[in-house]
Amino acid sequence: MSLALYRKYRPSTFSEVVGQEQVTEPLMNALSNDRIHHAYLFSGPRGCGKTSSARIMARSLNCEKGPTPNPCGECQSCRDLVANGPGSLDVIELDAATHGLVDDARDLRDKAFFAPVNSKYKIYIIDEAHQLGPGAANALLKVVEEPPPHVIFIFATTEPDKLISTIRSRTHHYPFRLVPPGVLGTLLDKNCKDEGVKVAKGVIPLVVRASGGSVRDAQSILGQLLAGAGKEGVTYEIAVQLLGYTDGALLDDAIDALAARDGATLFTTVDRVIESGHDPRRFASDLLERLRDLMIVDALGETNPAAILREIPDDQLERMRAQAKHIGSAGLSRSADIAAEGLTQMRGATAPRLMLELICARMLLPIGDASESGMLSRIERLERAESISIPVRPASANTAETKEKAVSAHVSEAAPKQPEKSTAPKANKPSAPTNHTFDVSGLRRLWPDVIEDVKKKRRLTWSLLSASAQIIAVDDKIITIGIVNAGARDSFLRSNSDEILRQAFIDVVGIDRKIEAIIDPSVDGTPQAKGGPTKGESLDDPQAPSGLSLLASELGAEVIKVEEHD
Ligand SMILES: [Zn+2]
Repeated sequence: MSLALYRKYRPSTFSEVVGQEQVTEPLMNALSNDRIHHAYLFSGPRGCGKTSSARIMARSLNCEKGPTPNPCGECQSCRDLVANGPGSLDVIELDAATHGLVDDARDLRDKAFFAPVNSKYKIYIIDEAHQLGPGAANALLKVVEEPPPHVIFIFATTEPDKLISTIRSRTHHYPFRLVPPGVLGTLLDKNCKDEGVKVAKGVIPLVVRASGGSVRDAQSILGQLLAGAGKEGVTYEIAVQLLGYTDGALLDDAIDALAARDGATLFTTVDRVIESGHDPRRFASDLLERLRDLMIVDALGETNPAAILREIPDDQLERMRAQAKHIGSAGLSRSADIAAEGLTQMRGATAPRLMLELICARMLLPIGDASESGMLSRIERLERAESISIPVRPASANTAETKEKAVSAHVSEAAPKQPEKSTAPKANKPSAPTNHTFDVSGLRRLWPDVIEDVKKKRRLTWSLLSASAQIIAVDDKIITIGIVNAGARDSFLRSNSDEILRQAFIDVVGIDRKIEAIIDPSVDGTPQAKGGPTKGESLDDPQAPSGLSLLASELGAEVIKVEEHD
């Protein structure tokens, strides 16, 4: 049986330890300067080299030419303590999980005073040190406090905070960490070359991801893939299947469908995910990870994202750039929020497929989400629609012609006769107010123009209405305006803004109605107006619309558009 990769390639010197320079460099310096402490604490996540480093430390200390950062490799101690070597009587490894008992600690304490058999130091490596019980820790404390000169302790633990503080305070603490993907990838590439097995592009990144930054896990996973490799080496397809990852092609299809708001394709993709035996949770988590990557690509703009997303091949990056552009920053952020929230809900859900489909449906939802990111993504879509010259709404410099069209579609009688197109806007004023019956949506179409007219008449009224009001109802006597909150409504009435608005309706639409203002909290987020104050414009009223409602006012156009399909 062949040796597991992580044992086969276990380092025997600090210079062979990968990705832990923050620890290995100071340790090597201490060794070369002969500044040896009697107790060390190696902490960090599992599988990142703590125990291997403790053994290397022992080897470096006990080399005939040591203490040295470069053990000679030839003396008896070096040969005994080489990785996978027979071990040395003077280097004693204890697992606190099994030796946490007081008697064992006492035994250790007593034996510690005997001189080493044939080395300089007697070195105790105590693994899982946080599992030392209080009794055992106290028994050890005495010898850690005042050790014989030939004794060195190396405590290794994933949870340094749980190590009894009287011991911890007597150690030199070296924190290990997870290995960065780039470093780990390079190591695994080298392992594959040394093993003489060809590995397809994209496989190593999958292994790196599956390992979560643990060298031991990464090499263990790679070992399994190499063991099952055929003549053509390790293929991407096999790796994806063995590691249970979602095939990148499925993710691409899902993201492309999302970008195009193509529900049919997105749900077909979900079906393919399930049919091919993938776990819906895994897919949701892979989708979230892809959205995260897209956000990075988007944030970096023209900067080459390969510097951060090292694991992703260039052709894939190119594709992701296009995807990020299609979905837009806000769309990505919103989709990621939905995916993250959905993942939490999927934990323990009895119908994960259903949950996955709900997540997809929510991502596809165009509007109705008043959150800020929902708003932003709507704006982005609007901007894109405009950039490909789809007229979303009549231009604010409304021509009489457009207005006429809009009005005539919703006026039950003939629209008031409009003056010549060529005359100045003031001349647009109908000769006398008329009393045609309008429906609400017809009037709402003209709301942006009414608001523009209000702006000319009085800025305060405009700032109260532009983003936080909408037309609720209209009959032959009264136009009812919904205003988002009591404060804004009171300001509206106190400032006699109703009269300004009445006049604007007369001037723009040609109808004279009494204005009634009611409170309608639902206005915020779905107002009808365009042309609210923009950032930086000073407002002369404390009830100025919030940033969110200003954004919302930008969306009035789309709301109108939706209503057309009602
Ligand atoms: Zn040696």
